[in-house]
Amino acid sequence: MKTIGLLGGMSWESTAEYYRLLNELTRDRLGGLHSARCVVYSVDFAEVEELQAQARWAEAGELLAGAARSLEVAGADLVLLCTNTMHKVADRIQQALTVPLLHLADATADAVRAKGPRRVGLLGTAFTMEQDFYRDRLEAGGLHVLVPDAPARALVHRVIYEELCRGVVREESRTAYRDVIAELVAAGAEGIVLGCTEIELLIGERDSPVPVFPTARVHAEAAVRAALA
Ligand code: GLU
Repeated sequence: MKTIGLLGGMSWESTAEYYRLLNELTRDRLGGLHSARCVVYSVDFAEVEELQAQARWAEAGELLAGAARSLEVAGADLVLLCTNTMHKVADRIQQALTVPLLHLADATADAVRAKGPRRVGLLGTAFTMEQDFYRDRLEAGGLHVLVPDAPARALVHRVIYEELCRGVVREESRTAYRDVIAELVAAGAEGIVLGCTEIELLIGERDSPVPVFPTARVHAEAAVRAALA
């Protein structure tokens, strides 16, 4: 079994979910008392959020490249960056590693294509929905990506930072997200990428008329496949 390195803490609410999923998926594959061999580096999210808000991406890249390096030194055979947003600096992180960074957008595009949809709605932080680093990677993976309109993007972003990353799950936010999903489906989305690793704490299949793709789960599944290959 390979050792999985988790570069997390962005936020720790979703990293905790990754940890649970990796262990459950490994147990399901191997049975008995098997669990995932892994190391976790969990950053202080307040520092990262400040760099995001000030668009200091190069500094964020250095911070995360150093953390990723620590994971490799600690024995990681592959690394997961447990946030969609910070894949903005994925290339810098990969440069710091000799082991693979398992890119979340690639794992997501593979999972979507395997289920059938080609045209997907993307929910995530404003960085993920509005900049091209993530959408382009999904499109390179064979998908056509739709994003919500500006007011809906602002709502989705606000709920992530003010609620989900703080462990707050509100029914009214679930209702609001359902409405955003319905608009994306009306615009032609055949699937919904939950492109922020906290959204699956709020939204599941029952909230959408089309399949949803929860990225923490999709990423954990790809990692366990790689670790047990
Ligand atoms: N976990 C989130 C994501 O997947 C948002 C937190 C962050 O900005 O890193 O994008």
